[in-house]
Amino acid sequence: MPDYQKIKQELEGIAVEDNPALVRQKSRDFYWYSPILKAQLDGVTADLVVTPKNEAEVIQTLKVAFAHGVPVTPRGAGTGNYGQAMPLSGGIVLNLAAMDQIKEIHPGRVICEPGIVIAQLDKQTKAHSGQELRFHPSTAQTATIGGFIAGGSGGVGSITWGGLRDIGNIIRLRVVTMEAEPRVLDLTGWDLQKVSHAYGTNGIITEVEMPLAPAYDWVDVLVGYDAFMDSVRYADALAKCNGILVKEIAPIASPIPHRYFTRHKPYIREGQSVVVVMVAPHSIDAFSAFTASQKGEILFRSDKVESMKGIPHGYELAWNHTTLRALKVDPEYTYLQASIPDRIMWKRSPKWSRSSAMKCPAIWNSSGSAARSSARACRSSVTRRRRGWRRSSRSIRITAARSSTRTAIRLKKAA
Ligand SMILES: Cc1cc2nc3c(=O)[nH]c(=O)nc-3n(C[C@H](O)[C@H](O)[C@H](O)COP(=O)(O)OP(=O)(O)OC[C@H]3O[C@@H](n4cnc5c(N)ncnc54)[C@H](O)[C@@H]3O)c2cc1C
Repeated sequence: MPDYQKIKQELEGIAVEDNPALVRQKSRDFYWYSPILKAQLDGVTADLVVTPKNEAEVIQTLKVAFAHGVPVTPRGAGTGNYGQAMPLSGGIVLNLAAMDQIKEIHPGRVICEPGIVIAQLDKQTKAHSGQELRFHPSTAQTATIGGFIAGGSGGVGSITWGGLRDIGNIIRLRVVTMEAEPRVLDLTGWDLQKVSHAYGTNGIITEVEMPLAPAYDWVDVLVGYDAFMDSVRYADALAKCNGILVKEIAPIASPIPHRYFTRHKPYIREGQSVVVVMVAPHSIDAFSAFTASQKGEILFRSDKVESMKGIPHGYELAWNHTTLRALKVDPEYTYLQASIPDRIMWKRSPKWSRSSAMKCPAIWNSSGSAARSSARACRSSVTRRRRGWRRSSRSIRITAARSSTRTAIRLKKAA
């Protein structure tokens, strides 16, 4: 058993928390979305939470932890949903939230600390020079940039830019290793792949350099269709319209929209599937004309409502975080469906593999290669055909699901 009193002494000057209730609070992420993980991980807690203010304090913490044989689990904002930020073997939770400074903003890039909340980062780069991150997760309002790089994969904006692991979408990372004498590494190029989506298992990100894109006052639009597959075809066609600048296209099957989009409900008829789109203001006329030509019904436009107070961002609707259910087959794509009994292990199967409440479609593109699909995240994507494309990684986020936390709770009770 490590001597935590001694460890605390050796970490003198660094913020250390050992109150069990507070430590337990910081030992959680959104693991509870899965009833299975909830049962498995509920007891997990660290022994200490250490909150460094700078890289020197990170190095000191890792050095001490290594010397005492204590595991370290980095944490951004704890919005990951598979227990990635949870200290399975106790030890130290390294809370990076206090390392939240922007260091430099330049045309096309920003250098910052890992603990800054993504929405804050976007706000500051926008105020500074009308720029924003190329893409962000649906949890941008709470998630940190370091947690996104270490635990995320892509999201809102990936329709244009692809994912985090596409070369060029991270410029540089500064990483501290955990060993007797921690090393500080500056990673670029393909080396970034060693750390991106590695869950902090091989080092702590202490500085991030990310590319920026022009910022817009994106307009949230909901486009309605009576048939889900019509909404998917529309989404696919819109994604191929290179002249219309969009940041998100997400078809969502009925009954989710009317049943669960509480604030948007007045705009949506029962039985309608919707496509959530984020459109640049200068593209809205072209977008409206295109949508009319595709027989889509514009149900909601954020630039037309008096106040958006209390109305969630479109991208927060587009990510459905609980169980997925039925999906019909789009003849344009050959696809397989995946079952995710526990959201960690998932397998691909040509059929629904069991009558579990959790079923997640993994969509394959027409060339037969797997689409960028995050079945574990209960979200699937269609990767468009490569032919004639500038970027093969552009993806549409599709949800054919019954959603909302309430559903998960109900299912759990039923189980
Ligand atoms: C409703 C919902 C929607 C989501 N939507 C998306 C989405 O669209 N796209 C997407 O990619 N993800 C998504 N996620 C997953 C998650 O929210 C994001 O990946 C988010 O960016 C994680 O950031 P965080 O600060 O909360 O990281 P955390 O959850 O705290 O950490 C994530 C992982 O990174 C590690 N880590 C954290 N900081 C560091 C660091 N400085 N150095 C090294 N390792 C570190 C942690 O140990 C953990 O393994 C979603 C989750 C939910 C609940």
